[in-house]
Amino acid sequence: MSRAHVAGAVALISAALSATAQAQTPPAPFATTKVTDNVYIFRYGGHQSMFIVTPQGVIATDPISERRPAQPYIDAIQAVTKAPIKYVIYSHSHFDHIAGGKPFKDLGATFVAHKNAKARIDALKAPDVVSPDQVVDGQESITLGGTTLELNYVGKNHSDNTLVMRLPKEKIIFTVDWIPIPGIQFRGMADTYVPDIEEGLKKVIAMDWETLIPGHPGPGGKQTGTKDNARDELAYLQDLSATVKTAVSEGKSYADAQKEIKLPKYESWPNYNAFLPMNIERYYDFWNRGI
Ligand SMILES: [Zn+2]
Repeated sequence: MSRAHVAGAVALISAALSATAQAQTPPAPFATTKVTDNVYIFRYGGHQSMFIVTPQGVIATDPISERRPAQPYIDAIQAVTKAPIKYVIYSHSHFDHIAGGKPFKDLGATFVAHKNAKARIDALKAPDVVSPDQVVDGQESITLGGTTLELNYVGKNHSDNTLVMRLPKEKIIFTVDWIPIPGIQFRGMADTYVPDIEEGLKKVIAMDWETLIPGHPGPGGKQTGTKDNARDELAYLQDLSATVKTAVSEGKSYADAQKEIKLPKYESWPNYNAFLPMNIERYYDFWNRGI
């Protein structure tokens, strides 16, 4: 066997092995939850998105199908209605929420996102992320089959392109990755704008709504939150910011700030021990270096 043949055989064997490994990976569990007569949550592993059913068609949100098939999401929608999927609205540009939309595109859906999301998506050109067909700049609304969905931009927070989708009649919002139910911020708050996120939370709290659908379930698999989750998250960030500001003004190092700062009010929240030092580092950079 020539060298090329050996290399080819090795490639074939590793392809077969990886196919076997994939076949043995259990599929992520998924489920549909009815929130109101026309609003549903599709949960796929640790991610979830909202879809809205109207007589004229469906407004879906994040495909949440990175490195896994989108078909369970499409099947979940089609189990509720045979009406066409007219829209897919991206919550923000992060791939773990928006990858895998091509099967929706193939069914004729129009993809919508904030204009900064489209700029990021088109710059990175991830092969499994569908580029938005339409962009939102400020506030827009989609009305389909008698249901209105507002697409609100409240400034920079967990990204520079996060939408707050609001159903005014149902008093529901869907917004992703910055208002956990409850939780401290994820790891080092990558792509998060400080202190803009605090201003964004104030704007969301001022809106008229009662039910929050976040992009990840909370403790115990809880799927929806309330305005108290937004108020609590704002309080957490304000407490964290003020405490880190004091540590910086006292000349504490990163390491000392991370070791000494405790916020016991929030210690029951998920990931408190794991992520608090990283959240501290994010605010340390803000107060120490203005970034
Ligand atoms: Zn995100």
